[in-house]
Amino acid sequence: MSLDAELSQRLDVLREQNLFRQVRRVDSPQSAHIQIEGKPCLNFSSNDYLGLANHLALKQAAIDAIEKYGAGSGASRLVCGSLAPFHQLDTVLAKFKQTQAALTFSTGYAAALGTIGALMGRGDIIILDKLVHACIVDAAKSCGAKIRVFAHNDLEDLEKKLKWVAKSRGPSGQGRVLVITESIFSMDGDAAPLSEIVALKKKYGAWLMVDEAHATGILGKIGRGLANHLGVSNQIEIQMGTLGKALGASGGFICGSRPLIDTLVNCARSFIFSTAPVPAAAAAAMAGVQIAQLPEGEKLRQRLKSLVEQFQSEMHSRKLEIPGAIIPIILRDETKAVHASKKLREQNIFVPAIRYPSVARGAARLRVTLTAAHTPDDVSRLVCALKSLSIAFQRRTDE
Ligand SMILES: *Cc1c(COP(=O)(O)O)cnc(C)c1O
Repeated sequence: MSLDAELSQRLDVLREQNLFRQVRRVDSPQSAHIQIEGKPCLNFSSNDYLGLANHLALKQAAIDAIEKYGAGSGASRLVCGSLAPFHQLDTVLAKFKQTQAALTFSTGYAAALGTIGALMGRGDIIILDKLVHACIVDAAKSCGAKIRVFAHNDLEDLEKKLKWVAKSRGPSGQGRVLVITESIFSMDGDAAPLSEIVALKKKYGAWLMVDEAHATGILGKIGRGLANHLGVSNQIEIQMGTLGKALGASGGFICGSRPLIDTLVNCARSFIFSTAPVPAAAAAAMAGVQIAQLPEGEKLRQRLKSLVEQFQSEMHSRKLEIPGAIIPIILRDETKAVHASKKLREQNIFVPAIRYPSVARGAARLRVTLTAAHTPDDVSRLVCALKSLSIAFQRRTDE
């Protein structure tokens, strides 16, 4: 069979299962209101939680960096691409997260891939929460370590896995053990019990990596994240975050000890063998981190929190103990989710239908994300539209 014939068959199967995806062209900056394929839409799909992606200060920082350092960076950072904005950003992030050091990567995906690959390998064991992001799953699979998965946020199951590992390692205790979880989960919006996970990893002598992609900028003091909010950040060996969500730019980062960061510079292949991002990205990210720490950032966090509370109260849904900005509406059936998203689009409201492989098969959902750029009126419009669909909503996969 020719390549195209084979691929067409595969695509037909995706279409039949309502899993076919397409990129939609957006002709406006990221914001609460965007122009999708020529049509104005109220946007509840972006991870730009503080509304910084189109913020004047970030744009100006990027423009200034281009004027000063040019458009491209020329090579990987270890060759000659380590322009000043990257060094400044690493320093700003270490200070922000209160760690000895930090290292930025071109994306969060690259940060996970490079870090896990640098630290773990054959003979080691990685224990993952069932719902961690694809980049962590891919990194764990490709590094050659043995993988164990614990049920989502299930401490009992995590302890069971840690016990199994302790037993299988034997008295010599060979092989390293790394537990990895997220803080606010990307598709479910719930928070990991980090304090309890820290206690468990200590009890069994494992290391811990936490991906704060959806909590950075939003939770904790000056937006440091959930680990800071819970007072356990200094007990997490590897703290990961992204610059492309609440911080409004793009990139990923790891914060931790000096030996950790030096090891990543030497061994993280996605850092070593990849051209440094454009200097404008680092400059914009730096402006984003700075705003998160200012009273302006606090005001944006408060506005976001109050919109999340308004949405939950108007939807009569259960309040989250730790309010992130992601609110899934579980519909299970892929066809239902696609249909609901389409109905909302007819009302000029964009809420994406999230399906396999972003979530498990049969766990399709509308994923609502709120941002500080929304208004209370925007939220009421969304609630009204959702109610007009008259579908049975579920807040969590296990309900
Ligand atoms: C978005 C995301 C990433 C990847 O970050 P990018 O910068 O988009 O590559 C990693 N982890 C989680 C939990 C994410 O949601």
